[in-house]
Amino acid sequence: MKELKALEILKNELSDQEDQLTEECIKENRLSRSDVEYIKLIVNNIKEAIAELEALQTPKTCEYESNDDSYHGTVYNFNCGYSYVTVEGDLSENGIKFCPYCGGLAKEKAQ
Ligand SMILES: [Zn+2]
Repeated sequence: MKELKALEILKNELSDQEDQLTEECIKENRLSRSDVEYIKLIVNNIKEAIAELEALQTPKTCEYESNDDSYHGTVYNFNCGYSYVTVEGDLSENGIKFCPYCGGLAKEKAQ
């Protein structure tokens, strides 16, 4: 995804800038120790914001396994701990695309 690539570039740029904030800067009196601490704090806040954006860009999925139970129908056990039963047909035939509990995209676990 284009947005994820842009975030990756921004993150690398930040890391490069952070690497420049060394003891040398302080020794050469280009920056005071408190300047360096302050800049590092800002860099960390930006990194946290990037991590949140990345989490939003990555669609959440909730994997499930299904068991046929001839008496009840089909039981779907989702990764988040939620279970759902269809009496007839599978999840998609019952109009279910997302886990009813956590809202992640319902995805069958690879066998
Ligand atoms: Zn779920």
